[in-house]
Amino acid sequence: MENCLFCKINCGEIPAEKVYDGDGIFAIQDINPQAPVHLLIIPKKHVSTLLEIEEGDYPLIGSIFGVGNDLARERKLDQSGFRLVANCGAEAGQSVFHIHYHLLGGRAMQWPLG
Ligand code: AMP
Ligand code: ZN
Repeated sequence: MENCLFCKINCGEIPAEKVYDGDGIFAIQDINPQAPVHLLIIPKKHVSTLLEIEEGDYPLIGSIFGVGNDLARERKLDQSGFRLVANCGAEAGQSVFHIHYHLLGGRAMQWPLG
């Protein structure tokens, strides 16, 4: 997709610190980390928001959780805990309109969110 930050990072047009590159999914270090661990897990297929996910995408979306668990375990977050969250739409704080899950950990977090 033209003019999409994460599509451009996926194809190498814009540099980013990739921490995982797999079949249909990649993960990068967030440029503005909100926790000691803050990764973005991103499907290579351009899907603008969670609302645009189609039934055929369900296996791909499911595999995000497998990648998230692997990355969390690698960073020793399995004992302390972590958050895997996606923002959908402006009021939820979505700023990049190519779906992605934030993997956050390494510090105590508040609930409910602000
Ligand atoms: P969201 O606000 O949920 O759409 O999340 C977008 C995330 O992308 C934010 O946490 C940003 O810090 C992050 N971000 C923006 N530009 C870049 C970039 N060039 N490389 C890595 N992460 C980025
Ligand atoms: Zn995209």
